Amino acid sequence: MIEKAQQLLKQIFGYDQFRQPQQDVIETLLGDGDALVVMPTGGGKSLCYQLPALIRPGVAVVVSPLIALMQDQVQALSQWGISAGYLNSSMDYSMAQEVEHQLRSGDLDLLYVAPERLLQPRTLKMLSECQLALFAIDEAHCVSQWGHDFRPEYLKLSYLQECFPGVPRIALTATADERTRDEICERLGLQNARKFIQGFDRPNIRYRIGQKHRAKEQLLKFLKAEHMGDSGIVYCLSRKKVEDTAQWLQEQGFNALPYHAGLHPELRRHNQHRFLTEENILMVATVAFGMGIDKPNVRFVAHLDLPKSVEAYYQETGRAGRDGLPADAWMVYGLQDVIFLRQMLESSQADELHKSIERQKLEAMLGLCEITSCRRQTLLTYFGEPLPEPCGNCDTCLEPVPVWDATESARKALSAVYRCGQRFGVNHIIEVLLGKSSDRVKELKHHELSTFGIGKELDRNQWRSVFRQLVARGYLSVAANSHGVLYLTDSCRPLLKGELQIEMRQDKRKQESFSKRNDP
Ligand code: ADP
Ligand code: ZN
Repeated sequence: MIEKAQQLLKQIFGYDQFRQPQQDVIETLLGDGDALVVMPTGGGKSLCYQLPALIRPGVAVVVSPLIALMQDQVQALSQWGISAGYLNSSMDYSMAQEVEHQLRSGDLDLLYVAPERLLQPRTLKMLSECQLALFAIDEAHCVSQWGHDFRPEYLKLSYLQECFPGVPRIALTATADERTRDEICERLGLQNARKFIQGFDRPNIRYRIGQKHRAKEQLLKFLKAEHMGDSGIVYCLSRKKVEDTAQWLQEQGFNALPYHAGLHPELRRHNQHRFLTEENILMVATVAFGMGIDKPNVRFVAHLDLPKSVEAYYQETGRAGRDGLPADAWMVYGLQDVIFLRQMLESSQADELHKSIERQKLEAMLGLCEITSCRRQTLLTYFGEPLPEPCGNCDTCLEPVPVWDATESARKALSAVYRCGQRFGVNHIIEVLLGKSSDRVKELKHHELSTFGIGKELDRNQWRSVFRQLVARGYLSVAANSHGVLYLTDSCRPLLKGELQIEMRQDKRKQESFSKRNDP
């Protein structure tokens, strides 16, 4: 049967060979087995279920949370002469009826369906009357609470195993550390599934994380120096910032389009379509943009704000360079990002369990930002795939980061926070360290503190860098709902007592920091 798959690969999709591990996955499904497939974005997951869908009798049901993309996927399949349809809540009744009719008459090879729609009794009943080739559960990390994109509907997909025993199931995802993987298998009843974990390294992506000074100017400089005429994605945290940045880039002469969940669906679809079909477009977007986007020649992904987790960072940056040619993952981040994310987390409504998960994820992300060794090694270690040698294609490899002994300065910073009563944000503390007797400082009598003016050896930016690293490493915490009030954590005791030395990154003064790509 695998010969049949080989033949269809060539005949329908026009490819000569399978990629790793497509063939083994397909064989597993053709042999009635279940599979868990973890492959990076762009690895070629879809073929793993599309080919068995064509070979096995009956219809393959593909569960996907990406309603916006179903139509595109179905259209693409139709162009290859494959009969596919989709069902979701955004379609009108008569369209749904048409698809249901095709399904009942056995005309469909593939049916894409949103999880909530699939789990409606009516849909389940209809499927129980059809011959089913397989279930494919796409973006399977959505079932994991440890994962970064939890969707409660996904939990109920465990019904599939109960309602349709004997129909092979394949779960697919691009992001899964070991913990998420285990959770997927447990929650979807895939303990006996064969597991295919494909390498996460994206050697053609150059990772760079720099200090944020004036983010838009830095972005402009990066674009002008390295990416004129290229397609790329610029991620921002908020909708407002997306719109501001897109407009600003337009004023600078770029074809920049905004994308976020608050835009009219029609406009969103239009912008996405333009990005996919035209060249030289910058998509300025929130994280709402990108899942499932398959544009091979995205030359860079820029982050103007810090993602909340390493998984999110990996997935977002992974949209660059799917064609295998050199691409950039470029990010600037600063003290405000750290404070903002920490504070958002502490003030959120989530229960303690979730907060602690989120906290660990943010720690890991901040760790990746602050390390002075190879970024790729850290990234891959996080995904359980350590890289033996430094990669030579990230900023820290290309330009080793100088470190300095910051023990004394860190102590001064922490004492200043303490002496000011742990009730102030970073700007005020820095005023005190620098010995600026502003009205506010005088009013609070902070010019009488022992820490007043003890930090004149560093300038404001250097102090911000110290504070950023102290917050990032968890020596200082940000009070919930406080606009950035800093307080000491237990972990700073050894530092204050002089039992611990601390080295910090020496941030560059100016933004000349990013070296230009100097490939041959
Ligand atoms: P994923 O879902 O893992 O992100 P896709 O299934 O969208 O990736 O595939 C990414 C790209 O790779 C698509 O353009 C697809 O057609 C192409 N592709 C998949 N398998 C092969 C193969 N065996 N040979 C060449 N190209 C392939
Ligand atoms: Zn490296």
